[in-house]
Amino acid sequence: MALIVQKYGGTSVGNADRIRNVAKRVKAHCDRGDRVVVVVSARSGVTNELIERAKALNPFPDDREMDALLAIGEQETIALTAIAMHALGVPAVSRTGPQAGIITDAAHTRARILDVTGGDLKAQLDAGKVVIVAGFQGISQGGQVTTLGRGGSDLSAIALAWALKADVCQIYTDVDGVYTADPRVVPDARKLDILSCDEMLELASSGSKVMQARSVEFAQKYKVTFEVRSSFNDEPGTIVKDEAPNMEQILIRGVAVDKNQAKITVTDVPDRPGVAATLFSALGEEGIVVDMIIQNIGRGGFANMSFTVGKEDMHRAEKISQKVIKQLGGGKLEVSGDIAKVSAVGVGMRTHAGVAAKFFGALAKANVNILMITTSEIKISVAIDPAQADAAARAVHAAFDLGKA
Ligand code: ASP
Ligand code: MG
Repeated sequence: MALIVQKYGGTSVGNADRIRNVAKRVKAHCDRGDRVVVVVSARSGVTNELIERAKALNPFPDDREMDALLAIGEQETIALTAIAMHALGVPAVSRTGPQAGIITDAAHTRARILDVTGGDLKAQLDAGKVVIVAGFQGISQGGQVTTLGRGGSDLSAIALAWALKADVCQIYTDVDGVYTADPRVVPDARKLDILSCDEMLELASSGSKVMQARSVEFAQKYKVTFEVRSSFNDEPGTIVKDEAPNMEQILIRGVAVDKNQAKITVTDVPDRPGVAATLFSALGEEGIVVDMIIQNIGRGGFANMSFTVGKEDMHRAEKISQKVIKQLGGGKLEVSGDIAKVSAVGVGMRTHAGVAAKFFGALAKANVNILMITTSEIKISVAIDPAQADAAARAVHAAFDLGKA
């Protein structure tokens, strides 16, 4: 008798038939005696539609009101899923994020989880019920409804699995698992049976859209093992867990492409200690995540710096940089919203030499011009022209023999 947390994404609950399928899947577990907590997203498209409706009324909607609005997407699906379960004769009850005790800070539209009390989930499970929980939403300590950032239902599921000490956490989605690359870009991409949380995190933050990066970060921190699998078939998916023995024998696990990057270049700022600190703390204070950074020491006491941010943060980052430049006493700003990032990820990099040589060799052979480079212990990323991104991904994928045997 296992305690299972299952999360179903927007496509998996996209219409009545699909909700019925979810209900059947959950029932199969109940019939085996498992206890099940189901976390659901809004139907696919609903969250975007709600955002558009708000923006049609006001281009800069208030974040608190946005959360009040966006939370209804998930509330529709929890009730419908519970209703579908009842039709199959399974006792089920829905709970909102606040009712499930997902306690967050007050950073509306991107709130962070502070605690998960679980509300009365345990009691409901003990009473033999399936509990359907709204993903993506929580409640601030001040009692306001919050949301956890786009794709945040993944985080709800991982956090609940952790808080309830679930035996299994399954993330059901519209793909079969985590692939070595996006199969739409790299046709011979392969599904991975297993990968480490570190690798998944690097892939998720490098543009692989399988899961919200923050949810993987949470899983890594609290050592939650989970499986990414399809809600449309019964094939085993990809297990993501803390590092297992032999994991380092594989050099590169996967290649990710992120075409949603923007580059900001600051030139002719004074070349003196503290300039980078001023700029990047101003960006950090506004919650902007800076990815790649390069600094060139300019001539005549001036410095030049380029960095990348997600395209959604481009305008805010531009405004903040402009302000900082003024404070520093002058400089120029250049912004390009047309940047792609291609990354190769693998824990094997830690213990093997020559990965960079092979990576850059593959890009050179494919005639890809590199604008920026960053590396971590288990990742190499380059910023390039988006028009070359797919070809670059295919070249790197082939160079490391990641394709189907
Ligand atoms: N409905 C929310 C979104 O689209 C959360 C989720 O689907 O995970 O971002
Ligand atoms: Mg999702």
